[in-house]
Amino acid sequence: MSIPLNIGLIAHVDAGKTTLTERLLYAAGALRTAGSVDDGTTQTDYLSIERARGISVRASSATLSWHGAPVRIVDTPGHADFSGEVERAFAALDAAVLVVSAVEGVQAQTEALLEALETEKLPFLVFVNKLDRAGSDYAAVLDELAQHTPRRLVPFCVPSGEGSEACAAVPLAPEVRRETEASADDGLVLRFLDGETIPDDELFSALRRACLDCRTVLVLAGSSKTGEGVEPLLDALSYYAPDPPDDAAPLAGVVYKVEHDPALGKLAHTRLFSGTLRSRDTVFVPRTGAEEKITQLRAVTGRKSQDVREIGPGDIAAITGLTSVRAGDVIGHGTIPRVPVSLAAPLLTVRAVPERDDDLMALLGALRELCEEDPLLELVWVPEKREIHLRTTGRVQLEVLEVFLRERYRLAAHFAEPSILYKETPVRTARGFDSYTMPKPCWAEIEFLIEPLPRGSGFRYQTAIDPRLIEYRYQAHIETAVPRALKQGLSGWEVTDLSVTLTGGSWHHIHTHPLDFFVATPMALMDGLRNAGTKLLEPILEVRFRAPEECLGRTVSLLVASRATFDSPVVRGTEFTLSARVPAEEALDFPTQYAALTGGRGRVGMRFLEYDDCPPGHGHARERFGVDPLDRPKWILHARGAYAANIE
Ligand code: GDP
Repeated sequence: MSIPLNIGLIAHVDAGKTTLTERLLYAAGALRTAGSVDDGTTQTDYLSIERARGISVRASSATLSWHGAPVRIVDTPGHADFSGEVERAFAALDAAVLVVSAVEGVQAQTEALLEALETEKLPFLVFVNKLDRAGSDYAAVLDELAQHTPRRLVPFCVPSGEGSEACAAVPLAPEVRRETEASADDGLVLRFLDGETIPDDELFSALRRACLDCRTVLVLAGSSKTGEGVEPLLDALSYYAPDPPDDAAPLAGVVYKVEHDPALGKLAHTRLFSGTLRSRDTVFVPRTGAEEKITQLRAVTGRKSQDVREIGPGDIAAITGLTSVRAGDVIGHGTIPRVPVSLAAPLLTVRAVPERDDDLMALLGALRELCEEDPLLELVWVPEKREIHLRTTGRVQLEVLEVFLRERYRLAAHFAEPSILYKETPVRTARGFDSYTMPKPCWAEIEFLIEPLPRGSGFRYQTAIDPRLIEYRYQAHIETAVPRALKQGLSGWEVTDLSVTLTGGSWHHIHTHPLDFFVATPMALMDGLRNAGTKLLEPILEVRFRAPEECLGRTVSLLVASRATFDSPVVRGTEFTLSARVPAEEALDFPTQYAALTGGRGRVGMRFLEYDDCPPGHGHARERFGVDPLDRPKWILHARGAYAANIE
């Protein structure tokens, strides 16, 4: 049995991804009828929220077999607010099919996907859809694509009758096709030009290698409405079949999605790259260092799932029993080809408030589960105030959460007090010190050097002391406690772009209590931040506008009023596109504002770019969660109590 090819369909919303999935399943005989998005009868778009809104939120999968080769379609979400999920799904794939509408062309989200394909080095092919619709312009789409990918485009068909139901994607004539295949390899081109007859399998392998090495992209076209071009697309997938893994390779897989099922509990959807897994096996999770026992392996198709005894390379299964895993985790001792990267970042913080006070704990439990499913959602529980705070990527994600809470957990809740997530960074180099030697028994002295780093550097930690000064195990405690303490700086925001060096300190072989360095680290660190001073950083977005030319003036006025910097617009036909760099604070309402400004004719796409200095007069401090380590007596009392409670 050959190894299944795992593909994902990715696209801008409405490009026709769901419809194409149905068509592929239907063409391969896996479905008796092709469902329709418009009637709500598709196989893969199965959650009620997806049906109600017509968008795919959670990834699901379906399998088919084409000329004896198994292909699994992992359905991926298309909305920008869920792009984290798209990237995680990339890690499970062998290749992606990028669906582009022949009418709307390359959209902001398509560009973001193309960039992610490059970052992840994921092989992909393109399906130019909707050739049947009025306004279809295949040639223009090819031009746009060429501008947005460094890979060479290799068209595999020529469209005819564009803009009508009679449209066709005519396959290349055999001789042209051979020439196209030869073009993938310089050596073959020369032999081809010399008139040599190159064997078919040699041509095939050269082009396949070029596709798998991310040098070329096959381009197919058609209409998922009429079914045109769907079989040639299935044929073209053979170029993307991955090399079989080494039999001796250790177990390696990636958890690309976590779900909570009312009957089965926590499901870790996992793609295996090498090795085999059986139910009752124990697996190693590198992120947590834990060995965990599998209770069940289930193969999932659409809404249905069934028990399987064993899975191997290329297989995907929902695993139960792995309590500590989160979406994005790697399992096993081996390596996987692509570790998920992140396009999106949480930008907003909000408070989750239940409609009924009695539901607070139920809401907390539900949100904990939802956060395991989406690592871009972060939960902060403030026990002293009995408040739940959430970090999220945007407003649409919150709307979806509200629906999930209502439909899955029967909980009514809303989100209050939204704020941009600022960060802070030290202004100058400084030392921080704390001597925690009273009230006895305790002994932990720590000295840090805190240095600002350039924007985008993140956090670095190192130690520059003689190990005799502070024993290794206590140094390990300090190293664990520093990033935790950096979650809230002087203004209450996460501290970033800094280097922390342990430069001095002491322990005492009688007085030092095992957890003293956990108590002292935040005090020494905050002392250092107070000496260094901190300033605010704000998230910056890259915003792309596309609208009819007459809307250009209004677009520029909007940007001028939004602290934006931008390039000159690019005009193509009667439309322009314009890229700008805009602080998130100013851009959050752009989608609705811009629709109003352009009478619904303009489109705007946004993605997170970086954090940068926040000018005076913008941004704000945030009330600290919990006790401030700078209030030493209170902190010591609190920290001692908390650690004692943890040990019991
Ligand atoms: P998704 O958001 O990418 O999953 O797109 P859908 O599959 O939900 O399709 C969006 C809309 O476009 C639906 O109304 C489909 O019926 C329609 N659609 C999809 N493919 C085609 C096509 O090839 N031609 C035409 N005319 N309409 C299509």
